[in-house]
Amino acid sequence: MDPIQLVKDKLSQGDKITYSDAQSLVDADNMDLFRLANDVRERFVGHEVVLCSITNAKSGHCPEDCKFCGQSSHFKTSAPSYNIQDLEELKTAVDEASRNGATEFSFVASGKRTSSPGELNTLGQAIQYTKKQSGMEACTSLGLMSEEELRYLKGFGMDHFHHNLETARSHFPNIVTSHSYDEEVQTVKNAKNVGLHTCCGGIFGMGESWEQRLELAFELRDLDVDSVPINYLNPIPGTPFATQELLDPFEALKIVAIYRLIMPGKNIMVMGGREKVLRDLQSWIFFAGANGMLIGNYLITSGRSVEDDLKMIDDLGLTRKAHCVSNVA
Ligand code: SF4
Repeated sequence: MDPIQLVKDKLSQGDKITYSDAQSLVDADNMDLFRLANDVRERFVGHEVVLCSITNAKSGHCPEDCKFCGQSSHFKTSAPSYNIQDLEELKTAVDEASRNGATEFSFVASGKRTSSPGELNTLGQAIQYTKKQSGMEACTSLGLMSEEELRYLKGFGMDHFHHNLETARSHFPNIVTSHSYDEEVQTVKNAKNVGLHTCCGGIFGMGESWEQRLELAFELRDLDVDSVPINYLNPIPGTPFATQELLDPFEALKIVAIYRLIMPGKNIMVMGGREKVLRDLQSWIFFAGANGMLIGNYLITSGRSVEDDLKMIDDLGLTRKAHCVSNVA
């Protein structure tokens, strides 16, 4: 049977697709695949899109050796290094994201963990400000975290916790050796255990195979995360991936489409590397099944103008979602 028809039938009957169904989609015609992913996006999550914005609340000095990251102290890069920003700086970033129309705002900190009471307290107050002053939902991305630390931040009003698994378990040792995949997974479980919405995905274009992309997707589906950020490697000079070839735009969109079909009711978000990898095909992310994206700047690289992104959403007849996970099936 045609793999597109098989997946279409399964999803319309309310069934989940299997790993082997997903494998058969890898060789399907791009347009057939995107058309199905677009239909599934419309049926499960509608015409509203989630717009995330982030600030790099603490940068550089990281003892970990993640090969893609310009903030690792193992590599010589031009990424800025600074300790946690003070509350006023964080509030300024919140205000800017709110003016830009973001649904959700995330405070991101470099490092394996963010566990100092002072840092957590500053972030807690910034979360409180986000909730009270901006109407945006509050998220953080702070490395490996215990339930106790996450519960503390939830007490200030944090709605979501972001923590990427980065790549498939079988590819992880080629990318990171300073901490384990199990530690990454445990952090996601900790966030779920304390009742936070979880935003968890990976980075693509780091030499992983299609099997490994599917392996990650099924790990995320099993973890039942709420949002799945798809990042494309933007090779940072000075890192071991500095000369890595960029993904082909259609291959990058195919990842979005297959992830939508594996996790039809989740937020499939296109985040870092969008401009660099997709170039003129950026608006195709929605046709390929995404229902969200990052607007504004990334951690250590710049994004395109927020005005251009908002215009693109408007031109496509999409509207901004008021809450990140309100109608996730
Ligand atoms: S732990 Fe985070 S900040 Fe540190 S090297 Fe890895 S990705 Fe970069």
